[in-house]
Amino acid sequence: MPPARYPRPVDLSVFFAGTGASAPSARRGLSATLLRAGGDRLLVDCGEGTQRQLVRSVGLPELDVILITHLHADHWFGLPGLLKTFDLRDRQTPLELFGPPGLKGLLERIAPTFGKVGYPLDVEELDIDESLRFDGYRVQTFATRHRGPSLGYVFVEDDRPGRFDAERATELGAQPGPEFGQLQRGERVRGIDPSDVMGPPRAGRRIVFTGDTRPSDSTVVAATGADLLVHEGTFADAERERAGETAHSTGVQAAEVARDADVRLLAVNHIAARVHAGEMEREVRAVFERSVVVRDFDEIELPLRDRGDPVHRRWSERTPADRAATTKESAAEQEDSGAVGSHT
Ligand SMILES: [Zn+2]
Ligand SMILES: [Zn+2]
Repeated sequence: MPPARYPRPVDLSVFFAGTGASAPSARRGLSATLLRAGGDRLLVDCGEGTQRQLVRSVGLPELDVILITHLHADHWFGLPGLLKTFDLRDRQTPLELFGPPGLKGLLERIAPTFGKVGYPLDVEELDIDESLRFDGYRVQTFATRHRGPSLGYVFVEDDRPGRFDAERATELGAQPGPEFGQLQRGERVRGIDPSDVMGPPRAGRRIVFTGDTRPSDSTVVAATGADLLVHEGTFADAERERAGETAHSTGVQAAEVARDADVRLLAVNHIAARVHAGEMEREVRAVFERSVVVRDFDEIELPLRDRGDPVHRRWSERTPADRAATTKESAAEQEDSGAVGSHT
């Protein structure tokens, strides 16, 4: 399907519901990252406790899509509870679940823990370099290098049309009003070609999620010029050898990938409990300045490229009103979806 010709700019943000590696700690839940694109809610990975992490921060939204990077338990163990909760809410809307080969078999094995759900649940296994089409954007997979089948995901917003030059259009004889609209939709008017009055298309925003991986050229390729790279950094750089043995990255290695890809912002997540985040952030920024080592409930907003740089906010910096606003949105969604069912 060709991209919509005039996609409306949408709000785009990434909320880090869980940023820990392997086992939860007092400070960090397990992997779960919420991508909000306009009205769509996509979750990348769903570690144990994900629904609780969401409920106590921005609320548990009616997710549209869940993308699983690989089948290690710290990336999917939250699925049974989450899928069950949606059923208890009498959810009706379809939920799409994507992941690497092995995902279907895994879902079949864990299905008895949450039973049959009353909403359409579509489970699909993906290979590398596949593209999923959504309204206004696509999600592409790329190869990562971990243990067992694993996928990275790229959110790619459709390009926006170039700027319309109203003055030039008037000079060439077009009338303001419907004729301007026709030109902006790519139609010829009074012999004027739309390309005479429209600037070049403006590239959509791109966000890259690696999941667990060693540093990899395929990530550099996928992330080149991206607005945001969310890259794992399990270990401090003193443990580079250990990172190699376990097919993980250090924060500094994530920064090297971000530097080679020249991304606009790097967010390092999947942090081992014993890592001191402040120290990691210093060593990461020494390699690539535009970096943050994220904590649970941090958020990164991505304005349109011509309107500014990505904005990183800690949960602690958000005002109570601001927190309430995001939580209220989800509460309203929950109310809309009906009362909690009586079955358990
Ligand atoms: Zn992991
Ligand atoms: Zn893993």
